[in-house]
Amino acid sequence: MEWAQALLCESAQQPRQACGQCLACGWFVAGNHPDFRLVQPDSHVKEAEAVDDGPPLTAREREKKSDQIRIDQVRELQSFMNLGTHRAGRRVVLLHPADSMNSSTQNALLKNLEEPAAGTVFILATSRGHRLLPTVRSRCQMVSLPQPAPEEALQWLREQGVEQAETLLALAGGAPLLAANLADRADFLEQLADQLANPRVDALAVAALCQRVPPVEVVTALYRWCYDLLSSRISGRVRYHAGRALAVSSLAAHCSPRLIAGYLRRLGRARALAEHPLNPRLFMEDLLFGYVAMLEGKAGHLSGQYP
Ligand SMILES: [Zn+2]
Repeated sequence: MEWAQALLCESAQQPRQACGQCLACGWFVAGNHPDFRLVQPDSHVKEAEAVDDGPPLTAREREKKSDQIRIDQVRELQSFMNLGTHRAGRRVVLLHPADSMNSSTQNALLKNLEEPAAGTVFILATSRGHRLLPTVRSRCQMVSLPQPAPEEALQWLREQGVEQAETLLALAGGAPLLAANLADRADFLEQLADQLANPRVDALAVAALCQRVPPVEVVTALYRWCYDLLSSRISGRVRYHAGRALAVSSLAAHCSPRLIAGYLRRLGRARALAEHPLNPRLFMEDLLFGYVAMLEGKAGHLSGQYP
């Protein structure tokens, strides 16, 4: 977003830095620059941003929102391209996350990338570049945005008023924005880790605890916990739960690396289904029974009944 703003800024002093003062910057920050389009899945649009005079969405309606950038969203860009720019300058289209386009949608975008309108810049933001078609990638310049240094990230998190910044940054694998998003879940994640660290964990109790949180977030948290178990077992390193390194290593000492790896693969498959499980409670209970079986050294959890 900052880069897009810098491209549209009309009195930028340095490349890639918007002035924050000019008319164009004012429009951009207010979310109504006429030469800018943000294309994102409906599920990414925050409710406050959505222009909607109707009644607030129910939880069910919110769940139904698409996690993909739809093909008609990309087709609608055509009319935006056909118009002259309002400020007779650049035009910027930001697609985020770009990997949320399926291959048909990417192909629809390809025409625009091949013959872009004059002055138009497309920014395809993604952390999974490999999911973009080779034909799309070959028409883009890659600009890497590496993770900031931990001290820098911690300072930023503290400036944002995030408590337990170190714990959350570790849980987020060093990604500061993700860490800030996890702040709302800090209590839940602590409770979950407490439970998972218990060698005699009660699967049903954990499943009940997890009902408060979308299944996909639970699967991610479980994945990170088990990743640390395996990593601790094999290399002695704990990445996500550095503050619990001792608990992780003593639990891992009793686990078979083969079974942990098998359970991680199962979690990987479960992640695909976790967006819309038919029965969230059963889904969670089955996964957690799998976790208990893994701790007990039983191989039966590797397939799982559900999914
Ligand atoms: Zn400006």
